[in-house]
Amino acid sequence: MTNIPTTTDPTLQRYQTLSCADALAQHPVRNFTPMMQQFIEAKQAYPDTLLFYRMGDFYETFLEDALIAAKALEITLTGRDAGVLGKIPMAGVPVRSVDAYLTRLLAQQFKIAICEQLEDPALAKGLVKRSVVRVLTAGTVVESQHLKQDEPNFLASVVAPKNPTQPNALFGFAYCDLTTGVFCTVALTAPELQAELARLTPSEVLILGEKTPSSIPGLPAKFTPILPAVLQQTTVSWSPLPKEAFNPTVTEPLLHQLLKVNSIAGYGLEESPLYVQACGAIAYYLRYSFLDNIPQLDGIKLLRTTHTVALTASARKNLELLEPAKTGDKLGCLLGILNQTVTPMGSRLLREWVGLPLRHLPEIESRLETVEALVQQPTVRQALRELLSNVYDVERLVTKLANLTATPRDFIALRHSLSQLPALSHAVETCDAFYLLRIQGFPPEVATVVTLLEQALLPEPPISLKEGGIIASGYDAEVDRLRAFQTNQAEWLATYEQQEREATGLKNLKVNFNGAFGFFIELPKAQAQHAPARYVRKQTLTNAERFTTPELKTYETDTLQAESTLCELEYQLFVTVRQTLLPYAPLLKEIAHRLACVDALQSLATIAHQQGYVRPVFHHDGTIQLINARHPVLEKRLPSGRFVANSTHLQTGLATSNTLPQVQIITGPNMAGKSTYMRQAALVVLMAQMGSFVPADKALISPIDALYTRIGATDDLASGQSTFMVEMVEVAHILNTATANSLVLLDEVGRGTSTYDGVAIAWSVLEYLVQAIGCKTLFATHYHELTVLEGVYPQVVQNVRVVVSETHAGGVAFLHRVEAGAAQKSYGVQVAKMAGLPASVCQQAEQQLNEMNKVANQQLRSRGASLVDGRGIDIGQQLLLFGA
Ligand code: ATP
Repeated sequence: MTNIPTTTDPTLQRYQTLSCADALAQHPVRNFTPMMQQFIEAKQAYPDTLLFYRMGDFYETFLEDALIAAKALEITLTGRDAGVLGKIPMAGVPVRSVDAYLTRLLAQQFKIAICEQLEDPALAKGLVKRSVVRVLTAGTVVESQHLKQDEPNFLASVVAPKNPTQPNALFGFAYCDLTTGVFCTVALTAPELQAELARLTPSEVLILGEKTPSSIPGLPAKFTPILPAVLQQTTVSWSPLPKEAFNPTVTEPLLHQLLKVNSIAGYGLEESPLYVQACGAIAYYLRYSFLDNIPQLDGIKLLRTTHTVALTASARKNLELLEPAKTGDKLGCLLGILNQTVTPMGSRLLREWVGLPLRHLPEIESRLETVEALVQQPTVRQALRELLSNVYDVERLVTKLANLTATPRDFIALRHSLSQLPALSHAVETCDAFYLLRIQGFPPEVATVVTLLEQALLPEPPISLKEGGIIASGYDAEVDRLRAFQTNQAEWLATYEQQEREATGLKNLKVNFNGAFGFFIELPKAQAQHAPARYVRKQTLTNAERFTTPELKTYETDTLQAESTLCELEYQLFVTVRQTLLPYAPLLKEIAHRLACVDALQSLATIAHQQGYVRPVFHHDGTIQLINARHPVLEKRLPSGRFVANSTHLQTGLATSNTLPQVQIITGPNMAGKSTYMRQAALVVLMAQMGSFVPADKALISPIDALYTRIGATDDLASGQSTFMVEMVEVAHILNTATANSLVLLDEVGRGTSTYDGVAIAWSVLEYLVQAIGCKTLFATHYHELTVLEGVYPQVVQNVRVVVSETHAGGVAFLHRVEAGAAQKSYGVQVAKMAGLPASVCQQAEQQLNEMNKVANQQLRSRGASLVDGRGIDIGQQLLLFGA
């Protein structure tokens, strides 16, 4: 990140590419100019950052920072004379537009140390005092201009176990969102950690770093992350920290300060030192980033993985829960379909719900109850949508209030949002669903807050806090008096003008004001000689002379004084209002959360109504029965009525009285809809456990504890793992962790190797799932051999096939209908034809296929083919499909 760009760019080469290290190697610091000494000192304390050094109206970067910034921001690189160092590289950005530049740097994962002027340069004696006041990093930004509205911004930390390769070794994990105050910790296995990192997509992840000493004396060591092998391919932005950041002796006091507590015992972290270490690293980093102005976080929440459905990172990805496979295709993922929220906080909460389906039925049922109430009462739903669309991001606004960083505009947004509450409360007054009851009536403190904001603030304050225009009239007598003084200015000037005209008898005399010269009396050139002696000449124009008088001068001083007094007074009053509102922050945060819940639930109700979803019914008999279920994303994408609904019936195995299958082996031609059938079953179950209605005619569901998928074939080239290796690692994870209450989706297991190896592995995996685990399983395959397992495990394994019809022209028509039975053929050659393979290739393939089928059938007959159930197996096609 802080490497100096090697460049052939002539603009960059114009200045010598001098780095801090070079500078320090060439000359002792004492020989530098005082300013360079100051800069180097600051830079040494923050070696991993780009240092923005404030000089008047600019933030300047020097040396290698300048080269990097010039490139990253496409700004001009210039040079600056720096005494013994000669001309050094320099690049700067104006203070007034710094935000846009910072956003660009943060997006490129730079850390930026802001080195401010600590005194007014006009008053400073000698070099202006400067110091780093804040280090901006992707995970610690709180300023809205650098944030995405609909997404949280997480800073996370990972503590690796002593022996990370041991199965089930636990990692400490903590994360926080400074914009909402969320602060959580949990202990996770490596796959769980990967899944959490993929779900939360933290902007920055803290981890222990290794010191890489600098070869230049005087320059501090840099850190590189120490990543256990299991995390090496995890693509997140790692921020390495020194050992002390993970030392509780150092960090516990920081946690106390951060959370304003004397002990962290109350958070229940004593179970494992991992929690304290992970949370401590966050406290350490916040101190580094914010120095003394650390934003507030809520108390630490200890999470339990047992409360939510375990989902691996690949399951979330394969099922396209939060992100579509194709970037930019917003409606290509489940969240995209379900998200009908109208507030940013509702949108963020829904994202959390979609990423974390629940296991705990009471919570699921209370979400469903509210969704049902809102589906059944469209007028209430519509009213809620309209009212909520007037609600701003109260969650982030209140966090700003708690941190005393809220601006007058934030307060106007808060006031506007809170004033929707009575109408919101009224809109749901006939409803008795839990989440709607929670917004019926609000404590009187809310009215107190609204009244104070209404009385104290003008409706359209400026962005700046120091320009006045903030405090409403009638709120403070002194503000009113000073403001009256200003508004009466025109009147005063007119009166004074009249008075002077009469006193001097000069009819063309004018009294006026301009920004550069202040107040003046103006006389046309011809009359200027009649000006009385008390008039003091101020300015000469071509056609006029301008004067002032002691009286006018006093008035001018008073006016200017009044203006600055007024601005300062308004600022002070605003700060007092903010302070007065501070104790209400926890209450307002709770309200924000309630509104976010209602928004997320109305969103689920809106889509349920639009798409005709039904309320799932939960029970505990181990069965899942989805009647005429649909794939929520595909159904929306296809023209209305084109999606073919299919039913799925499954039951946990290992039971003595299975009435439904535990495993379905799904066969059918390529493109028939096998994957769609499996995914829709998984999505329907997950949606139900999020508390959403589901796309089906009826859904009876026993809650699952985990969902595993083995879908798709992608090489993980970066990790040096072949397609087949990736596949086997995933299968191993499933077999080692799934329970009888899990749902497992396996799509074409074994296809990455030779046909016989593949069939053998797939067969054994299936038997293990049946004999040792008992998890509900959907297994799509082109290995028709496997369908004989239905005979081996009657009642437990069921064959289903996706049917197609053969057309007169020798092609296939896809019906997408799933029915009991095994497919006889894969129709690979027909699909190849449809894909446009040259006719000669397809003809040749057909001949080849017939030949191979003959040979295979002969072989089977000669081996007795005892397990084939009289149906015969299409080995020829298998060989063709899998290239064996
Ligand atoms: P392959 O064996 O080649 O991986 P597959 O059998 O898994 O294929 P899918 O990927 O599920 O097939 O589906 C292929 C396409 O068929 C989908 O992209 C979709 O357009 C369509 N399709 C699948 N199922 C349905 C359905 N139930 N209703 C309507 N269209 C469907």
